[in-house]
Amino acid sequence: MSELRQNPTTREWVIISTERRRRPHEFEKSSKEKEERSNLPEYMEDCPFCSGNESFAPHEIQSYRTPGTGQNSKGWWIRVIPNKFAALSPEPERQTSGSASKANAFTTMADYFYPRATDIFRVKPGIGAHEVVIDTPKHNEVLPFFSDKQAQELFLMYRDRYLDLHKDSRFKYIIIFKNYGPNAGTSIVHSHSQIIATPVIPLTLRNNISQARFYYDEAGRCIFCDMIQAEIVDGRRIILQTDDFIVFHPFASESPFETWIMPLKHETCFSNASLDNIKELGVIVKKILNAMYNALGDPDYNYVINNAPVADENEDYYHWSLRIIPRLTMKAGFEIGTGMSINTAIPEETADFMKNFIK
Ligand SMILES: [Zn+2]
Ligand SMILES: [Zn+2]
Repeated sequence: MSELRQNPTTREWVIISTERRRRPHEFEKSSKEKEERSNLPEYMEDCPFCSGNESFAPHEIQSYRTPGTGQNSKGWWIRVIPNKFAALSPEPERQTSGSASKANAFTTMADYFYPRATDIFRVKPGIGAHEVVIDTPKHNEVLPFFSDKQAQELFLMYRDRYLDLHKDSRFKYIIIFKNYGPNAGTSIVHSHSQIIATPVIPLTLRNNISQARFYYDEAGRCIFCDMIQAEIVDGRRIILQTDDFIVFHPFASESPFETWIMPLKHETCFSNASLDNIKELGVIVKKILNAMYNALGDPDYNYVINNAPVADENEDYYHWSLRIIPRLTMKAGFEIGTGMSINTAIPEETADFMKNFIK
């Protein structure tokens, strides 16, 4: 019989479908599918992210590079540029008109499309930031096979960019994420990550935040700390634990092999972590992705780092996490219509299976 499980941090229910259940090894890709991504060259002439092609990409915002090499030239190992097709931008008038003289183009457009008489259609300028982190100069190098140093520095760069963006008071939420593979929303093969700063707090997060706040007010403790303790007591879903981090497949996982990495120490925001912990996080993420590569055959995946909103980064109710979601299944009508997931894998089984692949 299927089981409904509730995620204590969101109060969202998930259906763990034992009837349609697939065993952990049944999620592995066929060897033909695996092959397709494994024969790429180190350099591609037309790839704007490859070392040597810096002039194809927008002007760099920040890079880690060999001393003496100039911006927008070779010699970097991690490089950040604005997203050419930005979802949000610090100067939205450029998006709409391309002309500085039409500084109020956005307001004008809003007035035109949405009659002011009905104030139910709300509009805000698309102010924000959208950056691309090029994780490596090599076209064919992927995170599961990075050196420890490269993985550590990638996460140090995320921290640098977070700290820089959070100086801008217009940005209310900063999300760091990676899309890998077409099922995860990208067709660009060159390894990259993205950072988006938004001028609003997205609704799903508002719900998470209010659940966490409510729990904190009632119990006087962090819901995430309590969830971590409960996972440790149960033990079956933990795949890795160090002095500072825990990695587990949560009790109410929404999708097969959903993996959470959390600091054991209560910390609201990833930018508050020590430099040693940020580096360790990079190595742990690499290790987990390497295990997924071997267990599931180079799956498409997303990962996201969720922090408290910028204004609350020193409040105690929230606890940051990095979630990895391998894209092994698709959302279907039920999920779209209800927001409730059906998971066809059992977290205890997938966690047990994954432990065999951690090196
Ligand atoms: Zn490339
Ligand atoms: Zn906590």
